[in-house]
Amino acid sequence: MRSFVRHRLPPEVGVAIEPELDELGTRASGPLWDFQRADRLNEPRLTSFDAWGNRIDHIELTPLWREAERLAVHHGLTAHPQERQYGSWSRVHQFLLVHLFHPVTDVYTCPLAMTDGAARTLLAAGNPALIDKAVPRLTSRDPARFWTSGQWMTEASGGSDVGLSRTRAECRDGVWHLHGKKWFTSAATSQMALTLARPEGNGPGGTGLALFYLETRDADGQLNGIRVERLKDKLGTRKVPTAELTLDGTVAQLVAGTTHGTRSIEPMLRVTRTWNSVCAASFLRHGLGLAEDYAARRVAFGAALAAQPLHRATLDDVDAESAGAFLLAFLLVELLGRDEGGELDASEAALLRLLTPIAKATTGKQAAAGASELIEAFGGAGYVEDTGIPVLLRDSQVLPIWEGTTNVLSLDLLLRADLDLGLVALRQRIVQACSSVTDAELRLSAAASLAAIDHAIGWHRTTGDPAARQRGARQFTLTLGRALELALLVEHAGALAGTEDGHAARQACRRYRRLGADLLRD
Ligand SMILES: Cc1cc2nc3c(=O)[nH]c(=O)nc-3n(C[C@H](O)[C@H](O)[C@H](O)COP(=O)(O)OP(=O)(O)OC[C@H]3O[C@@H](n4cnc5c(N)ncnc54)[C@H](O)[C@@H]3O)c2cc1C
Repeated sequence: MRSFVRHRLPPEVGVAIEPELDELGTRASGPLWDFQRADRLNEPRLTSFDAWGNRIDHIELTPLWREAERLAVHHGLTAHPQERQYGSWSRVHQFLLVHLFHPVTDVYTCPLAMTDGAARTLLAAGNPALIDKAVPRLTSRDPARFWTSGQWMTEASGGSDVGLSRTRAECRDGVWHLHGKKWFTSAATSQMALTLARPEGNGPGGTGLALFYLETRDADGQLNGIRVERLKDKLGTRKVPTAELTLDGTVAQLVAGTTHGTRSIEPMLRVTRTWNSVCAASFLRHGLGLAEDYAARRVAFGAALAAQPLHRATLDDVDAESAGAFLLAFLLVELLGRDEGGELDASEAALLRLLTPIAKATTGKQAAAGASELIEAFGGAGYVEDTGIPVLLRDSQVLPIWEGTTNVLSLDLLLRADLDLGLVALRQRIVQACSSVTDAELRLSAAASLAAIDHAIGWHRTTGDPAARQRGARQFTLTLGRALELALLVEHAGALAGTEDGHAARQACRRYRRLGADLLRD
C-alpha cells in the first residue's frame, strides 16, 4: 500500500492522506485487532417478542460492530465519494481506508458497501425526492444522522436469477405496498433498503421488476410491514445479521419507474463489487501480515520458519497473489473515481464496465484460496479458534459467492454487448502497463501477460458453440483478470525500480508469472 500511495497517487494527495492511513493502520493492527479477538464469541441476537408478547423483531449487534460504525462514520468511509476532497482520487483515498478497516471489523464493510451503493443508485436514478431524503444520511459524518442501507434482492426462488423474484407490489390510493419474502438480507438493522418487486400486472423476468426504496421503521420505531423471521446460521460472516424477511404490506416508493428494476440497481452492484474486490485484497494482506509475523517467531527443525526455503516460497506465492489482487482492485477503484468525475473516454468506460465483474471474480477466488494457504501456514494454531485465525478462512469464503458468483459473473461477461470494445481496452491497458519495461526479467512477465490476454481474446473469437463458451467462461474471465494483474505487477515493479521496495516488487512479479496467468485450456 505504501509503495502504491507513493508511486501511483499525485504526490500532494499521497502526502495529504498518509497521516490518516497511518492512524487507521495503527488502530487496525493494535486496539481493533485486540477488540476483534475479545469480541470473538459475540454474535448478533434476534429478539422476536417483548415480555408482553408484542412483536418487536429487535436485532442486537455485537460491540465490535457498534464501534465499527462509529469509526466508519468518523473516517467518512461512505462520505468520500460525495465530498470528493481529492477529486477523482477520493475513491482511492476511501478504499485505502477500507483496506485497513476491513479485516479487523468483522465484515462491517458489508453494510457500508451497500450504503455506498445505495447512494450511487439513487443519484444515478435522478429521483430528487429520494436523493434529498436519503443521500445526505448515507454519506453523513454525523453518527446521529448516519443511515445504512440494505440491498434486498435474493429470494428463495433465485439469487443469481433475480428475474424469478416473486415479491409483489400493489398500488393502493397511490401508495405502493410490497408482499413477499426476501431470503438473504444482510445488514438487517439498516434504516432503509433498496429492493426489487413486481408491480401487479407486470410481465416475468427482470424487466417486469421495479426498484423500490423503503424505510424499515416508521417515525414511532415500528417496523414497516416487515417481519424478521430468523437470522441465518452461516459458515462465516457471523457478525453480519443476515435475515430472512417477510414483507407484508411494506410501504415503499418507486425509484425509477415501474419496470427494468434489475437495470436500475446496476450502480449498486458496480459499487458493491468494487468493495468486494478491495476487501478480498485486504484479507490477503492481513493474513499475510499475521503469517509473516508467526513465521519469524516459530522455530522448527532448528530455524525460524521464515528462514526455511519452502515455507518462504509458500508465503511468497501468496504475497504475489496478494499484490496482484491489490493492484487490480485499485485499478478498478481508480477508474470508478474517474468515472464519477466524468473523466473517462469511451474506451476507459468500456474497460471499467468489463473490469468490475472480472476484478470481483478474480480477487474473490484469490482471497478464498489464499486464506486456506495462510491458515495452513500457522499449522495447528491456524485451526484453533481463539488464535483469531480461522475466521479469515470463513469470512473470505463469502467473497466469491455474494454480489454474483464466479460462474454467474463469467456468463454475464460473455453476454455483454460491449465485450469486444472492453477487450480492446483491456489489451490496451496491458500494453500500456508493459510499455516502458526495459528490465529483462520484467519483459518476460510482460510477454506472459500479453500471451495470456491474446489467448483469451482468441478463444472468445473462435469459440462459437454456446455450450463450449459457457464451459470455458470461468477460465476466460479469470485469465483476463490474471493477465491484467501480471501486467500491473510489471508496471508497479518498473515504477519502483531503484527504490528500496523495487526488489520485492520484481520478485512478486516473477512469482506471479510462474504461478500462471493463463488458465484457459483449449
Ligand atoms: C452471507 C451472505 C449474505 C448475503 N446477503 C445478501 C443480501 O444482503 N442481499 C441479497 O440480495 N442477497 C444476499 N446474499 C445472497 C447472494 O447474493 C446469493 O446467495 C448469490 O447471489 C447466489 O445466489 P443463490 O444463492 O440463489 O445461488 P444459485 O443461483 O442457486 O447458484 C448456485 C450455484 O449455481 C451456479 N450457477 C447458477 N446459474 C448458473 C449457470 N447458468 N451456469 C453455471 N453455473 C450457475 C452458481 O455460480 C452457484 O455456484 C447473501 C449471501 C450470503 C452467503
